[in-house]
Amino acid sequence: MGGYRLIGHPLGHSMSPQIHERLFALEGRTDSYSLFPFPPDKLETQVPILRGLEGFNITIPYKQAILPFLDSLDDSAALYGAVNTVRVQDGRMTGYNTDCDGFLRTMQAHGFSLKTSVCVAGAGGVGRMFAIEAVRQGAELTIAVRDLSKGQALAREISERFGCSVQVSTLDALDRPFGLIINATPVGMSPQTGVSPLPGPVTARAGAVFDCIYNPRETRLLCDARKAGVPFAGGMEMLVWQAAVAHEIWHGSQFLPAQIDLLVDEMNALLDRKAGEADA
Ligand code: NAP
Repeated sequence: MGGYRLIGHPLGHSMSPQIHERLFALEGRTDSYSLFPFPPDKLETQVPILRGLEGFNITIPYKQAILPFLDSLDDSAALYGAVNTVRVQDGRMTGYNTDCDGFLRTMQAHGFSLKTSVCVAGAGGVGRMFAIEAVRQGAELTIAVRDLSKGQALAREISERFGCSVQVSTLDALDRPFGLIINATPVGMSPQTGVSPLPGPVTARAGAVFDCIYNPRETRLLCDARKAGVPFAGGMEMLVWQAAVAHEIWHGSQFLPAQIDLLVDEMNALLDRKAGEADA
């Protein structure tokens, strides 16, 4: 069978096929990459098909649900307890987490240090990864949430694992400056684009802002940052880098930052075209 796929449910607006096809072209390969959506109660019955692929990516709701079916886990997947990339060799499936690489390479590309006061807004799947990685890199961490009990649960887990203290706040109670603000909530994502998860004055006093949302390319949070002269980065770079690192795992490929920058621009232009068509 062979080939590469993305599993998840639903997968309607995924940009993964376009990103991966461009990465295959940059590698000089002609592999196919397709969406493979199925409802959660069908995961187990799809496993034989997945074992026949060369590799696949995983998105919501299977990043954790896939774990019992994997034969081995890379350190990155074990650390976060979530898998977004699988390499299949002779029917054996190994799970990796390249969201983290995508995040760190984006921070590096913009010169955003995590060794500062970091506020992570949201404590879901990707927020958990950002929070853990921030602490691993030496951040003084605040988790900001709408439901304090969820933030406190994550803060407790991180404190126990890494022996550090973690602050927790509701989003609307934030009132201090941070070296770096990271949005890991869907607030501001298309089509509800006019809202920010954070009070504007907190954004305006930040050292830098990263929003992991990639649609639209400039969220309200990033617009607030830009107007205040705060350096910022959007989620498309993380999305493209996490895909590029999957190709490093599958084929040992290496991409240049300039190639990734071009691909990010292409994908943002594609997003703009799609938005234009939807408005027309
Ligand atoms: P998730 O597991 O569902 O977590 C979402 C988090 O946002 C939860 O903490 C949730 O709080 C909070 N939240 C949701 N709606 C909110 C609201 N109206 N106000 C305040 N907080 C709210 O989702 P995820 O997988 O972490 O993804 C989060 C975002 O990251 C999505 O927009 C996704 O597209 C983006 N993402 C981007 C990339 C990339 O490569 N750029 C990769 C992964 C994810 P509750 O628990 O209280 O609901």
